[in-house]
Formats: sequence, structure tokens, C-alpha cells
Amino acid sequence: MKRSRRTGALGVLIMSAVLGAAPAQAKWLSRTVDGIMGTRVYVEIWADDENKGGAAIDAVMDEMRRIDDTMSTYKSTSEVSKVNELAAQQAVPISAELFKLLTTALEYSRITEGAFDITYASVGYMYDFRARQRPSEEQIKAALPAINYRHVILDAAAQTVHFSQPGVRIDLGGIAKGYAVDCGIEVLQKLGYTHALVNAGGDSRVIGDRFGRPWIVGIRHPDRQDEIITRIPLVDSAFSTSGDYERYFDENGVRYHHIIDPHTGRSASKVRSATVIASTATRTDGLSKTAFVLGAEEALRIYNQLNDVDAVLVTPQGKILYSKGLQPPAGTPTLRTP
Ligand code: ADP
Ligand code: MG
Repeated sequence: MKRSRRTGALGVLIMSAVLGAAPAQAKWLSRTVDGIMGTRVYVEIWADDENKGGAAIDAVMDEMRRIDDTMSTYKSTSEVSKVNELAAQQAVPISAELFKLLTTALEYSRITEGAFDITYASVGYMYDFRARQRPSEEQIKAALPAINYRHVILDAAAQTVHFSQPGVRIDLGGIAKGYAVDCGIEVLQKLGYTHALVNAGGDSRVIGDRFGRPWIVGIRHPDRQDEIITRIPLVDSAFSTSGDYERYFDENGVRYHHIIDPHTGRSASKVRSATVIASTATRTDGLSKTAFVLGAEEALRIYNQLNDVDAVLVTPQGKILYSKGLQPPAGTPTLRTP
């Protein structure tokens, strides 16, 4: 028998396998909290002591709120909002944590040949998917030159960030959730937990297994929320799924959604969904937008060069493509149901 559980709006399902033999008092504890980092956070741990386990989950949620307060562009008081306000005029001193994450973000821009780019926000801030708002052609044209990760100048000695031209804005929405998941896992590891799952929106990481069985990740159908198109067993891994069905509106047959092509300032639609698997959620989050911008073939070329990365892509035609480490047997049908 298998239990299945939705883990938020992002469309990844975690299926808990049957529990094997385990210490008598120990048990799985879990909690879902809505509204951290604009998404739903889910934590599950194997705990010997219910009170201590509850406190450990509290600590993970607190850590995620702390990161949200620092990194969110929705909060005018966040460190990132201050950077956006000032960095075009002057070099802005920032915390060691933000400096490190910006350094990592720029590294993913280089790895993904510019597909991942936190300056997407120079145009991206003009979209409001809930309000069905998007920038006009003129607005995109005027703001587009500000999108380029090379405009973000980091000075390691001074620990500052500076934008090389006006109009540049950054947004860590494409990497901060993955980073927060890693920080949440670190909180649990420091407390001694060895079997756990932390999920925030499209980003998740598991430590350990479920007593002799892997965690099973289901990848949903891009259009049919409750339909699983493929399942992947995971132990001690992180994974991120990006989809064009997460934040979007449709207008005259065109889907406007939250992954932006840095070259055009428009929604990037070369795949419908992309799931990336690697050792940390910062890494999988930083890599999961690539195929939307570059297309499945180019993205797989990049993923296959990175030895620790695997991916499952769903093309606009509904074809499922796997990185070389996940190649299924020949003859696997497209969009198969369980
Ligand atoms: P989730 O928010 O569920 O984790 P994703 O990991 O797919 O979803 O990230 C999508 C977010 O990434 C967008 O909402 C936006 O904040 C940001 N983003 C959009 N386009 C890009 C891009 N080209 N490079 C980096 N970040 C992007
Ligand atoms: Mg993400």
C-alpha cells in the first residue's frame, strides 16, 4: 500500500513507501506551513522524541522565514530590496550570506550559458501573473538591456555589490527557495536527524531513505495536476521542478508564465516542465530553469556534462526526455500514466 501526498502548488508528489521495522517510540513527524517564501513549506522527519522533533521542525520553519526576510523582493525591508534600491548608484555592502548566494547565482548563469539570470527581474518585475499583467513591447525593449548577469559586480574584498548600469534589478526567486531548503536540511543535520524531507515550492531535498526504501518522487503531468507521468526513487538528493503551470495566465492562446528568457524578457517556453536532481537544492533550483530558455537538447547537453546532475524534461509535444544517468529502457511511451 502506498500513501500519496500533494506537497504544494508545485506539482511534485512525494510518495511515502511502506515503513519497515523501526524503533518502537520513534515515528515520522510532518508539518506543512503556508506562506513562507510565497509558497508552501513541508517538513518531514524521523524523530525519536515527538517534542524534540516538533522543535526541530519549528527551527526549520524559522530558518526559512529568516531567509525570506533577507532575500524577498516582496518585502521592501529585505536586504535584496535595499540592493535593488541602491546598487545602480553605489557599491552596497552586503551580508556574507547574500554575497555567497549572489556569487553562486552568477556561477549558475555561467554554467547555464546565461539561461539562469537573476537580473531577469529588470523586466520581470513588470509581470504580475495573478493580476494578468505583463509589460508592453515598448517597456520590454526599454528595459531589456538591463538584463545581463555581467551587470552584477561583486567585490570580494569589500563584500559589496554594484550594478554596472541603471535599470538593473535582481530577484532570487529562482534560487532562494532551493537555498532555504538546503539551510533547513542543515538545521536538521546539526540536530542529528538522518532521515528527513524538506520541500519549499518546487524545491526539495531528502536525507537518508525511508528504512531500506528510497523516497519516491512523482513528476506531474503539465496539464493534469493529479496525473503522474514518471516516478524517480531518491536517497540523499535534492530535486527541483520548474513548470509553466505554476504561475501563469493565458491570453489569446499564449501562456505568460514566471520563467523569463533573459534574451527576450518574455516567458520561456521551450519545455513544459523540467526536473533536475543533484546533491543540493541550491544547485537543482539554479539549474531547473535552463531548459525553458535553451530548449531540451541544449539543456541536456549542459546537464550531461555535469557529472552529478540528472534531469527529466517534458517537451511542448509531451515527450519525456531523460539525462543520460536516467535513461529508461527503450520503447518507454510518452506521457504514460501510472
Ligand atoms: P519555484 O518558484 O516553484 O521554485 P522555479 O524554481 O521554476 O519555481 O523558479 C521560478 C522563479 O525563478 C520565478 O518566479 C522567478 O522569480 C525566477 N526566474 C524567472 N526566470 C528566471 C531566469 N531566467 N533566471 C533566474 N531566475 C528566474
Ligand atoms: Mg525553485
